[in-house]
Amino acid sequence: MASAPAPAPADLPPWLQGLNPPQRDAVLTTEGPVLILAGAGTGKTKALTSRLAHIVFSRLAWPSEILAVTFTNRAAREMRHRMEVLVGDLAEGLPFLGTFHSIAARMLRRHAGLVGLDSNFTILDTDDQLRLLKQVVIEAGLDERRWPAKQLAGHIDRWKNRGEIPAEVPPGEAMSFGEGQANGAKLYARYQERLRALNAADFGDLLLHMLTIFTEAPDVLADYQRRFKYIMVDEYQDTNVAQYRWLTLLAGARHNIACVGDDDQSIYSWRGAEVANILRFERDFPGAKVIRLEQNYRSTSHILAAANGLIAHNKGRLGKQLFTAGSAGEKIAVIGVWDGPEEARLIGDHAERRAREGASLNQMAILVRAQFQTRELEDRFIGIGLPYRIVGGFRFYERAEVRDALAYLRLIVSPNDALAFERIVNVPKRGLGDKAMAALHAAARSMDRPLPRAAEAIVETPALSPAARRSLKTLVMDLDRWRALAETTPHPELARIVLEESGYVAMWQADKSAEAQGRLDNLIELTRAMEDYPSLTGFLEHVSLVMDNDASDATEKLTIMTLHAAKGLEFDHVFLAGWEEGVFPSQRALDEGGAKSLEEERRLAYVGITRARRTATITHAANRRVYGQWTAAIPSRFVSELPLDHVEVTSTLSGGPSLWRAALQGEVDPFAHVGRGTGRGPGWERAAGGFGAARNTAPAIDVKASAVSVGLRGRADVKLGARVFHSKFGEGTVIGIEGNKLEIDFPAAGTKRILDSFVEVRP
Ligand code: ATP
Ligand code: MG
Repeated sequence: MASAPAPAPADLPPWLQGLNPPQRDAVLTTEGPVLILAGAGTGKTKALTSRLAHIVFSRLAWPSEILAVTFTNRAAREMRHRMEVLVGDLAEGLPFLGTFHSIAARMLRRHAGLVGLDSNFTILDTDDQLRLLKQVVIEAGLDERRWPAKQLAGHIDRWKNRGEIPAEVPPGEAMSFGEGQANGAKLYARYQERLRALNAADFGDLLLHMLTIFTEAPDVLADYQRRFKYIMVDEYQDTNVAQYRWLTLLAGARHNIACVGDDDQSIYSWRGAEVANILRFERDFPGAKVIRLEQNYRSTSHILAAANGLIAHNKGRLGKQLFTAGSAGEKIAVIGVWDGPEEARLIGDHAERRAREGASLNQMAILVRAQFQTRELEDRFIGIGLPYRIVGGFRFYERAEVRDALAYLRLIVSPNDALAFERIVNVPKRGLGDKAMAALHAAARSMDRPLPRAAEAIVETPALSPAARRSLKTLVMDLDRWRALAETTPHPELARIVLEESGYVAMWQADKSAEAQGRLDNLIELTRAMEDYPSLTGFLEHVSLVMDNDASDATEKLTIMTLHAAKGLEFDHVFLAGWEEGVFPSQRALDEGGAKSLEEERRLAYVGITRARRTATITHAANRRVYGQWTAAIPSRFVSELPLDHVEVTSTLSGGPSLWRAALQGEVDPFAHVGRGTGRGPGWERAAGGFGAARNTAPAIDVKASAVSVGLRGRADVKLGARVFHSKFGEGTVIGIEGNKLEIDFPAAGTKRILDSFVEVRP
């Protein structure tokens, strides 16, 4: 296909308008298996959404008869929203539109009894999972230092991703953890027993249990097969074996399944995803119609060509042609900087400049390879008052204080939740230390009751010391009272009451450490977040399933997220930070050394670049602090794999390319002027050959601040009411202090939150 296909005529129904012929084909082929295999930004998700609208509006099925799987909750939300625009109220409901996890959780609650769970089972997060696994490892008499729970968790995840119950674990793998009777498969079996006893499931269980139910209760499966007239799956290249089996079972005899995917964007093999599922599709669903989309509607031709050039370095791919009718746009900018803080400063400057030129912050994203990269960016943006959001990962809900608060709330909803109980029983300190807990555990075992239930009974006996008994009794009575209160009190209010009455808030108020205030803020933030949910149960379900929590916030913000989390999304302006060997590709991929993991990193780079609609900016630092250690870094090999015609290479290090080159040859020290070490080493030499010397052609960008001025400046000693000066906002008055963050009222710019090291105190 050489030119853009003609758009559909305007008299078509709204969901068919503006689709190209193969997209329309994908929408109108409702019966039988369909596989849409196409590159980034070719309108796969758009076609899938239109197909959903078409089926609903043409009354081929009720919304509740459609199973539509998206990769993230955010994607599900977006699809729901687009559906509403297209078909209005008809889209209401769509109860089975969501992620594999959220749909499987919903199903499992209905059939929990078939796998020995109650319908109100708890979904464990990784932290709880590890705690439990640790107990299993220790109980089995293994040395936890030699056989870490985390490693066992990795094995179990892998087995679950393949849909294997303990009896199905291959013997060779079973022996790769533990010893003899305490081998991996045995521990896995014991872990499953413990989960059942706790009325809990981990993430992997959601699908695994459904697979068990489908095999052992064929009538349940038959019921779903009858119900789901149409099945649709986005980002199909990242399904794992368990998900694939779940889908094929549900597709049953009807075979009305449409999957869309791109083998070049398969980036979750570490979570068990198998690109091979794409290749299997035509075998498992004979007669499948394969549709290819070749026009990219998202990116400029420079961006698309750069991405195509990069991914062409991968060998294991199906290969495809992509073209765009869009403009050439700007070349991809590749910028070398001194270190992480300077990278953050540069990205902040660029983002602000784009914003001044009229771009929306919502249309800008910084994509990072690893979580640790976000902190320097955050610090900088707090410093200059640039609004940002962090998406992906469980950052907020992973914080200790948030998890403590959630444990209290979980106990109110699920009175048998032993893990939650253990987490908070002595937080704040109630004199219920190891000794009391040992007695409590023993009682729970002998009474064969969950821990919280045993606690209710034990306070009536002399098994504990009088003091411990008293304080446990208070906790038990508090919990009862809060449960009663839950019947009548709105849940955010309930949470506030619980946090106060339990003494939890007082504990942090009494804490004099630097981060105590931040923790209290997080608790406030937590109760605020609850307001968006109709019930406490609904909120807790959200917490266990959802990765980002800021959808309701209306202010424009720059997004920071990992490359993995960015899949399927698009932004006008994309910043790709930290393109250095060891960061991206990750050290882990390098250590493993194989072509396979490197190709996956390269696909990740492809995903990153193809998120950009108008501009893509790649940065790499010469020095990087990884977990507190400074290391000299060399540019990522992916930088040198970008086709030269589509990139513009610059460096902010003063002296420009010629000085830089000279330094690489050992003649001068380009860093002498900033008073730091040279940072030269074997890495630099490789940089000369691979990237720096050959390609540093454009003039240096003028960065206003020198690389180190801010970082080296000491902390200001600030008091409330102090007059301070900020280089951008001018003079202001300090109206709040929280650790090293200041709330400052600037007459010219309003109230901002700024790090203390960014202001000067005026006498
Ligand atoms: P990815 O591989 O990144 O998931 P995708 O193939 O799912 O990408 P979409 O997100 O559906 O692509 O579409 C990319 C962009 O192109 C969106 O902004 C979408 O609105 C637009 N688009 C898709 N199809 C068309 C079309 N036929 N005409 C105009 N714009 C289109
Ligand atoms: Mg998509």
